Amino acid sequence: MKRYQWLANAIVILLAASPVLAQKGTDGGGHADAKAGIAQQAPPISWNTKMPWGPMEAAVRTRWAGLPLTAEKVEPFKVFDNVYYVGVQVVGAYIITTSEGLILIDATYAETADTVLEGIRKLGFDPASIKYLIITHQHFDHFGGAGRIQRVTHARVGMSAVDWEGVERQQSGPQVGDQNLGLPLERDLIIKDGDTIKLGDTTLKFYVTPGHTPGSLAVEIPARAGGKTYRALSPCVGINPSPDLTKPYINSIERLKNMGPWDTLLPNHAFLMPRDSAIAPSDFIFQDLKPVKESYPGVIGPERINQWFDEILMVAKEKLASEEK
Ligand SMILES: [Zn+2]
Repeated sequence: MKRYQWLANAIVILLAASPVLAQKGTDGGGHADAKAGIAQQAPPISWNTKMPWGPMEAAVRTRWAGLPLTAEKVEPFKVFDNVYYVGVQVVGAYIITTSEGLILIDATYAETADTVLEGIRKLGFDPASIKYLIITHQHFDHFGGAGRIQRVTHARVGMSAVDWEGVERQQSGPQVGDQNLGLPLERDLIIKDGDTIKLGDTTLKFYVTPGHTPGSLAVEIPARAGGKTYRALSPCVGINPSPDLTKPYINSIERLKNMGPWDTLLPNHAFLMPRDSAIAPSDFIFQDLKPVKESYPGVIGPERINQWFDEILMVAKEKLASEEK
């Protein structure tokens, strides 16, 4: 693992994705051209090396090996009684089951939209019963597959207004690197801060939390297990290299922390978790495509989650201090 350390730091920066990288003509979305992007990057920035989740070198193995994105496929699995993981290795996606259909959080890449749909079918669900597709933010690894999934399922697609603009700008602009932005999305549901979506017996709450992107959405999900309902948060926590987003990021993370207590996290990238929790690189990304766990002992608890928020805030504040010098 050691020899990849330097690269891992760079990758975390890439994964955070940013207009800064796009302006430099590299990989604005973060993933599509990791190898080429890294070669053009400045040396790793120290504040990223202290991220609580640390390196995630294995996450790009498939790309280094020149394999297609579909090689990131993992077996779908149950996370809670009403929450299922249907994402790929690097990018998360979740199905929330309700009494009146399904809600899908994030679409993953354009290339893996069908992988997600296949996973949903494998779990025994019909993609046609997806009523809502929520895109957490305007990065192609989350929205790229949305156009395809929208056409197959006829789900309503929701995003924050500012990230809708971002998607539209990207899809109507020139291609950046080899990013596949997927089938064009038409603006549908605009999700505002504090909005809720109720489907049958389930209500999701949304918070617009600028930082990872200008309009990142955090989703509050009632996660059920063993007759109990837990407060689950799906946040966007990757630090964006852009200095313009540092203060908004800190404000958003502080806000999410103050909205606690949170019982558990449903990360939109598996590596963006406290290192010692169940969906962590050691269990998940480093699994070399072995089937992932059947169940998820995922109630981390507010204490660990607050500690995690504090670790993130510490890093973000170091970044801010370095920018203000
Ligand atoms: Zn992102």
